[in-house]
Amino acid sequence: MIAVLKPGVTLDERNKLTQWLEHQGVEVHVSEWKSKTILGLIGDTHKIDDELLSVLDIVESVNRISEPYKNVNRKFHQEDTIITVGDVKIGGGNFCVIAGPCSIESEEQIITVAKQIKEAGAHMLRGGAFKPRTSPYDFQGMQSDGLKLLVQAKKETGLPIITEIMSTEHLDLFDEVDIIQVGARNMQNFELLKALGKTKKPILLKRGLASTIKEFLMSAEYIIAGGNKDIILCERGIRTFETYTRNTLDLSAIPLLHELSHLPIVVDPSHATGIRSLVKPMSMAAVAAGTDGLMIEVHNDPKNALCDGPQSLTPEEFADAMVSINKVRAAVI
Ligand code: PEP
Ligand code: MN
Repeated sequence: MIAVLKPGVTLDERNKLTQWLEHQGVEVHVSEWKSKTILGLIGDTHKIDDELLSVLDIVESVNRISEPYKNVNRKFHQEDTIITVGDVKIGGGNFCVIAGPCSIESEEQIITVAKQIKEAGAHMLRGGAFKPRTSPYDFQGMQSDGLKLLVQAKKETGLPIITEIMSTEHLDLFDEVDIIQVGARNMQNFELLKALGKTKKPILLKRGLASTIKEFLMSAEYIIAGGNKDIILCERGIRTFETYTRNTLDLSAIPLLHELSHLPIVVDPSHATGIRSLVKPMSMAAVAAGTDGLMIEVHNDPKNALCDGPQSLTPEEFADAMVSINKVRAAVI
C-alpha cells in the first residue's frame, strides 16, 4: 500500500502520520520523488482503512499495491537506485561494464586479464573463485586461493571486484570483495538471500535459469527485506527450447524490469548466448534496450580456459566490442 503526501507537508506532520501507521502494525518506508513524499506500507495493511487515510488533510492519494514485491517495486520507490562502488556507479543513467574470466585460474591469468580489460575501458573486474559446475568432476574454482588472487588484481589495477558466493559459510572470505554475485542456480536459495540481506555489500543477483520476472523480483525482495537495499539485477538468459544458443537472452526483461522496479539492471551476454561471436551484438542490443551495465567474460587464452572458453572474448575482441558498445550507448542516451 502506498500513501502519497501533498506537497508542503511538514516533517512533524509526516512523523505523526508515520507513527500512527506504525502503531497499527505496519512498517513505513519513506521516499521522496519530485517534491512528493511517498509512504510505502509493508505488512498486514488490511487493518488500515484506505478511506480514512485518504481523507486526511496531508494525504493526496492512497493505492493498494497488488504485486507481492513491495520494496523493489517502482511504485514504492520511484527514483532509480544507484549503486556506488568506489568511483564506479551503476543505475540512474550511470553505465558500467564488468569484465573478466569465468574463473580465476592463476596469478598470471587474472592479473593479465585485469590489466587488459582496464585498458579497454572496463569499470570492474569479475572472476569466479567458487564455481557452480553442473558436473562434480569439473574444475570447481580456486576457492579461497582464487579470492586472494582477485584481491591482488584489484590492488594492482584499482578496479573494484565482483565474485560469486555459493554458501553462507564463505561470507567471511568476502571482506575485500566489492560486489557479491548470486549465481543463477542460487537465485532461489532463500537462506543465502536472507544472509546477504544482512550484509552491507551490494549484491548482483542473477536471474534463475527458468525463473519468471516475478520470481526474480521476489528473490530481490528477500535481500531488501533483510535490510540490504543495494541490489543489481542481472539478466543472463533463460532456458528455452532453442539449443543452438546456451540460453535465450530475454531482452524484453530490460525495459520491463525498469518499469517494474527501481533497481539497476546488468545484462550478461556471455552466459545468455554461450557463443563468442554473439557476445558483441547482444551487448549492443542490450545497451540499445536500456541496460545499466554489462557483464562480459574475457579470457587471455579462451581455447584453454578451464571454464566457459567458447563464450569468452579475447582481450582484443573485448576492446573491439567496447568501441561498438560505447557507440550504441552514445546514440541512445
Ligand atoms: C558466472 O557468472 O560465471 C556464472 C556461473 O553465471 P550464471 O550463474 O549466470 O550461470
Ligand atoms: Mn561462466
